[in-house]
Amino acid sequence: MKQINSILIANRGEIASRIIRTCKKMGISSIAVYSDADRNALYVKQADKAVFIGESNPALSYLDMGKIIQVAQSVKADAIHPGYGFLSENADFAKSCATAGIIFIGPNPEAIQAMGSKSEAKGLMEEHGVPTVPGYKGKDQSSTRLISEALKMDFPVLLKATAGGGGKGMRIVHKEADLESAIESAKRESLSSFGNDELIVEKYISSGRHIEIQIFGDQHGNAIHLLERECSIQRRYQKVIEESPSPVLTEALRKQMGESAVMAAKALNYDNAGTVEFIFEEKTGNYYFLEVNTRLQVEHPVTEEITGLDLVQMQIESAQGLALKIKQKNVRGCGYAIEARLYAEDAENDFTPVTGKILKFEYPEMDGLRIESAIESGSEISVFYDPMIAKIIIREENRQQAHRKLNYFLKNLVCLGTKTNQDFLLHLTEQADFINGNYDTHFIKDKINLKNIAAKTEEELFTACIAACLVDWNKRENSRGLLKSVPSGWRSSFYDYQKETYLHNDKELVLQYRYQDDLFYFKNGEELLSVSLIQVEGDEISFETKGLRWQFTVLKSGMDFYLHNADIGNLKIEQKERFPKKKKEKVKGGYEAPMPSQILKIMVKPNQEVKSGEALIVISSMKMENTIYAEEDGLIEEVYAKEGDNVEAGFLLMKLKSKEAIL
Ligand code: ADP
Repeated sequence: MKQINSILIANRGEIASRIIRTCKKMGISSIAVYSDADRNALYVKQADKAVFIGESNPALSYLDMGKIIQVAQSVKADAIHPGYGFLSENADFAKSCATAGIIFIGPNPEAIQAMGSKSEAKGLMEEHGVPTVPGYKGKDQSSTRLISEALKMDFPVLLKATAGGGGKGMRIVHKEADLESAIESAKRESLSSFGNDELIVEKYISSGRHIEIQIFGDQHGNAIHLLERECSIQRRYQKVIEESPSPVLTEALRKQMGESAVMAAKALNYDNAGTVEFIFEEKTGNYYFLEVNTRLQVEHPVTEEITGLDLVQMQIESAQGLALKIKQKNVRGCGYAIEARLYAEDAENDFTPVTGKILKFEYPEMDGLRIESAIESGSEISVFYDPMIAKIIIREENRQQAHRKLNYFLKNLVCLGTKTNQDFLLHLTEQADFINGNYDTHFIKDKINLKNIAAKTEEELFTACIAACLVDWNKRENSRGLLKSVPSGWRSSFYDYQKETYLHNDKELVLQYRYQDDLFYFKNGEELLSVSLIQVEGDEISFETKGLRWQFTVLKSGMDFYLHNADIGNLKIEQKERFPKKKKEKVKGGYEAPMPSQILKIMVKPNQEVKSGEALIVISSMKMENTIYAEEDGLIEEVYAKEGDNVEAGFLLMKLKSKEAIL
């Protein structure tokens, strides 16, 4: 048996850090790989060795199998850990590793392959007695056949791309009249995304919970499960909160689902870490197989926290050919664990990813808290990769205690510089239905009002502006060399007020104040508020008003202030320039990149006629594809981007002359 002494990690970010940690613990030397964009990343510094593998575009670095294997050989790595995403579920990659004499830390390639197709996966599961969603998964893919199969079921039905993933190529159909066009569009999307247009048809479970079971196998035919994770809190088919135990599973159901998952593992000769996903219908107590993820999941820490196991270590041991050390009867869940994913994204704007620099990332230390992150103050969230900032994991005796801690943590976490979902997560943890475990996979969409989650009251804005104003005042005060005895803001006419104007979401906030006898007086309508500045230390400021002590973190970048206060939350205010530059004018008929993106496909050429609603261009930003459509009939005047380009938000992509303008 070949011992693993060194591991190349074919991944980046927090999962690379996570794997490095276990390597260190086991005395295994870790080799990181990094692209241009990751040159200064934390995980690269943490690894024992690091190798540059090319451009930031993942296709030219983290997804380049040949290059990864070549690097692994050149550093004489015994094994490759693929993490999640990228090459982790690529059977060809697993095979290439074996051919090159390198151990792939994951299941055997046949198991990966078998789970790569939804129709085959379902077929195999049915054969082995794992419950699946009723439906059609046949070879006859004609529209007539798919329609007739769909009509055998009650509406709504679900069309799914056999080769699909990430919710792509999926269509919910509510009535017969919509079937044909839904089939066509699902096929089109599936073909362009996966190079295969086969579909399966399923009964749509209208109110389902996503419950998954962690499985583990070894090369000696042993397979066990490590209990469940409830992952129903999702947005855009992607998880944001995961927890264990699930608030709805009875001991009997847990046992039954666990046994089904082990049957799935046995059916696949499964020999590493994997996850069997089920959709659970609360009203009937039925559960159905969805898919097997043949890798370590993002949310694996939840399982580690309640079982006390190190899943990465178990992966390494299984890949090395060691037998599982733990038996099913010894697997015990202790307490409760929850994970919340902190993302750079705009919750109020359909969770669109955002890019930018994290100016400050600091959080309170707490018992039972585990942070998985490869971000530090100054880290960049780039357009190339997933915008996850950190995973916040809390372990406690029970749900209630853990939720209280999570809420406290989210209030006190300082993560400033870009928009994040921090306020959204906080809001979520305060919803009664969330606290009581009363939800299905539509919870965020149906039950959370996403508008104004981060809205602030007049009073809160006023207080935040005071913090910003005092930080600036203090800076001016410290930098004045001359006239030391005359405080900054001194006016020859004693009662003159100074004025600062700030903008918050385009709303203008005017602050008038004067400084006298060590106190600041801020005008608040008719009232005059006296404020005493207590301390400014680094980015932290504290002041007192009406006997109440306020504490803010304030970061200034250019004219922008990023502020955080535990009660008010995060906010950004802009200092209004005294002589503002002219705002960039919007080009008539212009189509701009809505966010920093890469141009994937341009469907039109100059002088081409287009119809309103026609697709013009496909862009990608942080794993998310976006199509921009024509807003009116007209003629393409000019195209300014080309395929493969990386563009900033606001970049003018093309110009369209409207039909009216042509006539
Ligand atoms: P993907 O491979 O694209 O992630 P999945 O089969 O795992 O596809 O499904 C993604 C999500 O879609 C699930 O987490 C679940 O919320 C929902 N879903 C899948 N199948 C069904 C179904 N038959 N009925 C209702 N919801 C479903």
